[in-house]
Amino acid sequence: MIQERRKSSNVLLDTALQEFYGAADEMGLNERLISILSHSERRVQVSIPVEMDDGSVNVFEGYRVQHSTALGPSKGGIRYDVEVDMDECEALAMLMTWKCSLAGIPYGGGKGGIACDPLNMSKKEKEKMSRTYGARISPIVGKWSDIPAPDMNTSGQEMVWIMDTISKMRGDLEPSLLTGKPVSFWGSKGRNEATGRGVATCGLEFMKMLGKNPDSMTAIVQGFGNVGSYTAKTLNEAGVKVVAISDISGSYYSEGGIDIRKAFEVIHSNPKKILTGFEKVGNCEKIDNDLFVEADFLFPCARDGMINRNTAGNIKVRYIVEGANGPITPEADEILADKGVIIVPDFLANSGGVIGSYFEWAQNLQGEFWSEDEYNRKLVNIMKGNFRRVWDYAEVKHVRMRRAATMAAIQRVADVVEMRGTFL
Ligand code: GLU
Repeated sequence: MIQERRKSSNVLLDTALQEFYGAADEMGLNERLISILSHSERRVQVSIPVEMDDGSVNVFEGYRVQHSTALGPSKGGIRYDVEVDMDECEALAMLMTWKCSLAGIPYGGGKGGIACDPLNMSKKEKEKMSRTYGARISPIVGKWSDIPAPDMNTSGQEMVWIMDTISKMRGDLEPSLLTGKPVSFWGSKGRNEATGRGVATCGLEFMKMLGKNPDSMTAIVQGFGNVGSYTAKTLNEAGVKVVAISDISGSYYSEGGIDIRKAFEVIHSNPKKILTGFEKVGNCEKIDNDLFVEADFLFPCARDGMINRNTAGNIKVRYIVEGANGPITPEADEILADKGVIIVPDFLANSGGVIGSYFEWAQNLQGEFWSEDEYNRKLVNIMKGNFRRVWDYAEVKHVRMRRAATMAAIQRVADVVEMRGTFL
């Protein structure tokens, strides 16, 4: 009997499932494997009571989804955002399975998060929330089972709170339990910049395939958080002129090129780490929407769904490298394809983060500390190789890069599921 295929009312989960089914059909994957891989191994929900600064108690909902552990421990970030829910975590966990598989690292896919508004919470409130979340998910995380990391609105500080809580509960220091830790506390030099460096590396490799010199290229970087800021910095250092950047404070444009160093100064002096007031000191103008600026490349590094049926038609770039997870909706994907825009998919382009996490975990397990040079060299080499592999595979299979990357990723997981079997 063939099991009916899953559908979801959550846009992100439905998109992930439809892309999976599309690629699986194109590959001729058997229905047994399709059923197994369209479901997550574990979906956990926890309640997190937090005494707020005003004395009231808020109970936040937290989640952790392990989509697959076929290739190894599930791996993926923890995000704090108002839109977090189980389905979103499941979609992103599936994306992590493909990301780790494609990257060639020994991990499955997972994702977690807490539904909250972190920009309007105090540090104390966030600490209590992170620690209780850590305690609640402690039974299912571990260096050989599920390894969290930062994601949207989380960073090394949240990782330390969670790791410290779980280590104290277990009575043992557990550095390799999660990644993205600060360099001063079992983290790795290079990890903080790794996702953005990887996104930019894909963009630069793309330019090379097009026979273009980075000095002659212009780019828009949407989002100036951890991913966007280091994408912009790395592109800029390679000679690309970044003409527009943005974050929740607005969009900023400069025909002559954004002063990225100044932009870093502005976010570092702002308590919310945003670009407010950048137009006054950055020699640039504030515009309505950076997505519609004329440039060669667009790097959407903000959040999912920003390029959708309402915005896609007005996009003027020819090449897009996805830094965020799921920044382009399926309808927008079609609109852009009709316009001849070539897209490097998220789980290839932003895999530098999890590849960097793998380096951190490997160092932790061995008690080693690599130099930043060594870390960056290895990261850039892997990113370049993976980009080339997907580029070539797309050509051979006559499909878009997203489809090629999904097919290559599914194949590795499917082969291992066949070898390991379905017991458990
Ligand atoms: N949150 C990042 C991602 O979506 C990194 C995950 C990790 O390092 O485990 O890829």
